[in-house]
Amino acid sequence: MKLSDISKKLDEIRTEGRFRKVSDLRMVTASKGVDRQGKEYIVFNSNDYLGMTHEREVEKAAGLAISYGTGSGGARLTSGAVFELSDLEREIAHFKHKEDAVIFNTGYMTNLGVLYALAGPGDVIFSDALNHASIVDGCRISRAAVKVYPHSDMGALEKLLQETETAGQRFIVTDGVFSMDGDVADLPSLVKLKGKYEACLIVDDAHATGVIGETGRGTAEYYHMEGIDIQVGTLSKSLGAEGGFAAADRNITDYLRNCSRPFIFSTSIAASTGAAALAALRLLEKNPEKYMGALRQNTAYMKEKLRKAGISFLPGDTSIIPIVMGREEAAMEYAARCRERGILLSAIRPPSVPAGTSRIRLTVTAAHTREELDRAVEVMRECLTNDT
Ligand SMILES: *Cc1c(COP(=O)(O)O)cnc(C)c1O
Repeated sequence: MKLSDISKKLDEIRTEGRFRKVSDLRMVTASKGVDRQGKEYIVFNSNDYLGMTHEREVEKAAGLAISYGTGSGGARLTSGAVFELSDLEREIAHFKHKEDAVIFNTGYMTNLGVLYALAGPGDVIFSDALNHASIVDGCRISRAAVKVYPHSDMGALEKLLQETETAGQRFIVTDGVFSMDGDVADLPSLVKLKGKYEACLIVDDAHATGVIGETGRGTAEYYHMEGIDIQVGTLSKSLGAEGGFAAADRNITDYLRNCSRPFIFSTSIAASTGAAALAALRLLEKNPEKYMGALRQNTAYMKEKLRKAGISFLPGDTSIIPIVMGREEAAMEYAARCRERGILLSAIRPPSVPAGTSRIRLTVTAAHTREELDRAVEVMRECLTNDT
């Protein structure tokens, strides 16, 4: 694009009502934020599923580790090998029932790093149509052939696997929990198919870790089965920090440390960030009933209240609650009305979701109080009847 075309492009975006900007918000608890004018909001658009960002032990761990430097000083292979990240790798591997894990700087970089390093020309990646953008981008930079199958359509996936000849490696890559609908990937079928067609199965549990399975271990635990070759995840959602991980056999993790450019050429996250994620993981492992229980109870409570209020939403086993509105403007205006009244919801529009299915997406967390949930439903109901 010529730089002289930018203004025109921006005007187009504005005309289509798609111009986006950042609204500053300071989180004062895991469920409440204030803007620069001091207005308070109850937050339902955060991925802090277990409220770990404000847990006292997590804050304390991060605070202690800040004395090891506010930045890590370099990439881990050269200069930034902070203790906390190596400890975290070991404990994540144990949590995910894998030999080892590698920490990347974000979940986004993890997918780029894994697909870039492992898949290349001659290989084929089979990717769900609703996979996260970071998987899509990872497929692109890998330079492998990419076959996109319709969302969760196992018949279509098998057909593609059958008809795609390759002398190289096949990869099947999927979100564990899909971020827009909150539905769970069909792991039993995926494991069967990956066995039958000798594929490597990569599952990104960004929205599944700390959310599904009795102890929050994610998609594998949800189905009580193993069979995932590479478990990708993020530290930024239920683990209250920032960063991403890939857990797998040691051969694979060693290879990633040696050959994955996003791992090799980027300064690692700081000790305090690693310490926060490690403390959050330990809290979850020590007391899964407390965190998972609160998340489940809050989610069930919220869904029941919404139902009673006559607000319908897509079903699912996660705390992502999608309320489909149809038109883009309807979702945008509804979110704006709720925001005006102190409730933050996200309006999701194409291209994140198919045209005509624009929606409100709200996420319940373990940190919401009953009063906050009650207040949200009250506002949501009033905003619905106002003028739609
Ligand atoms: C959020 C998310 C990511 C990105 O993780 P970050 O740590 O925010 O970069 C990757 N994959 C999926 C499926 C996600 O939902």
